[in-house]
Amino acid sequence: MKLTTLRRDIVCQQAVELVTDYLEGTLSRRDTRRFEAHLEACDGCEEYLRQVRATIRVLGRIQPEDLAPETRQGLMELYRQFRED
Ligand SMILES: [Zn+2]
Repeated sequence: MKLTTLRRDIVCQQAVELVTDYLEGTLSRRDTRRFEAHLEACDGCEEYLRQVRATIRVLGRIQPEDLAPETRQGLMELYRQFRED
């Protein structure tokens, strides 16, 4: 995985912020494309999306504040692991 090649695309923090809009279907077509492109290249965000979806399944709704701190924590752990590779 070469993060340098993704410089023109959205970064992880942006992707994380777009997850809710993405799942609600309110992203513009352009943002959706960039978001999905990022997900394909980034296992961390793919995993994050999986966790958000799991949360929604349990709670039955999308509430960013319902995302437990440990979910975001887990994401940061993943990023750390990538950086160490
Ligand atoms: Zn990412």
